Amino acid sequence: MANKIPRVAVREQDSAVRATNFEEVCYGYNDEEARLEATRCLACKRPRCVEACPVNINIPAFIAEVAKGDIAAAAEIIAADSSLPSICGRVCPQETQCEGSCVLGVKGEPVAIGKLERYVGDWHLAHGGGGGRIAAANGHRVAVVGSGPAGLACASDLAKMGYDVTVFEALHKLGGVLVYGIPEFRLPKDKVVAREIDTLRGLGVRFETDVIVGRTVTVDSLMEEEGFDAVFIGSGAGLPRFMGIEGENLNGVVSANEFLTRANLMHAYDEVYDTPIYVGKRVVVVGGGNVAMDAVRTAKRLGAEATIVYRRSEAELPARREEVHHAKEEGIEFRMLTNPTRVLGSDKGWVRGISCVRMELGEPDESGRRSPVVVEGSDFDIECDVVIMALGTSPNPLLKRTTAGLETNRRGCIVTDDAGATTRQGVFAGGDAVTGAATVILAMGAGRRAARAIDGYVRGKYQEEK
Ligand SMILES: Cc1cc2nc3c(=O)[nH]c(=O)nc-3n(C[C@H](O)[C@H](O)[C@H](O)COP(=O)(O)OP(=O)(O)OC[C@H]3O[C@@H](n4cnc5c(N)ncnc54)[C@H](O)[C@@H]3O)c2cc1C
Ligand code: SF4
Repeated sequence: MANKIPRVAVREQDSAVRATNFEEVCYGYNDEEARLEATRCLACKRPRCVEACPVNINIPAFIAEVAKGDIAAAAEIIAADSSLPSICGRVCPQETQCEGSCVLGVKGEPVAIGKLERYVGDWHLAHGGGGGRIAAANGHRVAVVGSGPAGLACASDLAKMGYDVTVFEALHKLGGVLVYGIPEFRLPKDKVVAREIDTLRGLGVRFETDVIVGRTVTVDSLMEEEGFDAVFIGSGAGLPRFMGIEGENLNGVVSANEFLTRANLMHAYDEVYDTPIYVGKRVVVVGGGNVAMDAVRTAKRLGAEATIVYRRSEAELPARREEVHHAKEEGIEFRMLTNPTRVLGSDKGWVRGISCVRMELGEPDESGRRSPVVVEGSDFDIECDVVIMALGTSPNPLLKRTTAGLETNRRGCIVTDDAGATTRQGVFAGGDAVTGAATVILAMGAGRRAARAIDGYVRGKYQEEK
């Protein structure tokens, strides 16, 4: 299947310029570009793109409205399945989801579904409307723990069903990883995240920041003393992993979470703020996912020579293709098939380098990817001042420890059924807290499924009481 119109290229900041600033890399489509790109869609009878979207957005229907120029109608269609289109349009791994399955991709370039979603989402933020229908207040209260995509999606759907929803967030800013993890140059905080959250405020959702559930209040006190009918836990997976190698306690070794939180949430890149952040002359980031790409590109923008060290080959890099492409354009060095064995320190206790071994790919492991095997005698050192570990994260155990009857599995993830019900009655969970580190769209989908389950639970509870 081919299309005569080539995929409309999206305008981006020049790579040499953007490697020195924190402004958004991608400018997105203007009206004309979006309309032209939308006309490429074949409106397939059995749209494979919809099946491949984790929340099954009616993609051909919204694209048809963009082609007609009725963006409000397009926004309504997306709002039926997604509450965060401006965000998902920017960060979803479309190349492995909707666009990866688009029929036009078989012989040519798939429809730019993500860029069109972003265009519609941004239009909605600028013009209002398209937020979905709201039912009358039903008098029932639900507490949401965490304001990441899982919590926001759950809160949004419950508010539309008429629930009185309060979101409790441990940090001083709302948005979870969207504000403390993903950098400004990929996802603008004021222009996009804060405004998506304002849409929820418009639905009547209340937000309480600086509240650590499990410390300031507990799940039990919310349900038993504060009168919440149900609780949704969307507390994410914010606990970083390290390699367990010699030298990891040296000054200059940090987790990607800490590094990115300083840069993003605490604005270390902005001279107006006092937040300290150290990059030295050369930074090595260990890992190959989106987190690693964000950390290495942030280090580059802070003035360091920045290198990715990853133990598999480029084909196995778990990061979004677009992020790898952008990182390369910005001058990031990639050292593939390389694994650290030891962090080297100076006599003052600071990082001076990292010892590595070369790897080669062996048989596929349980993830289906070919597993890396050490090449004997291949040790070598890389000089650097900072090592950033971006090796994945797991859920914080605080809620498990402070909530009676809440089961977790051996990875520390909360155990739920398919709908999001935990082992504790009236308590539901979703997102990274349940799956471990995953994606924005999966977290959002889990929050929406749990909202439906919470509605069923609360209705059942009050029917029984009648
Ligand atoms: C740097 C980085 C880049 C990423 N890039 C992408 C990407 O490009 N595309 C993509 O799809 N995904 C990406 N991800 C993954 C994605 O961001 C997560 O899968 C998603 O944010 C998970 O959403 P969540 O709502 O489950 O948790 P989170 O976003 O982690 O939100 C959880 C929230 O709960 C709060 N919280 C935790 N404990 C408590 C408590 N006890 N009381 C009150 N509040 C609490 C936290 O402070 C946080 O705000 C990235 C992740 C990181 C770290
Ligand atoms: S698969 Fe591609 S061409 Fe077909 S409906 Fe989806 S976006 Fe349009």
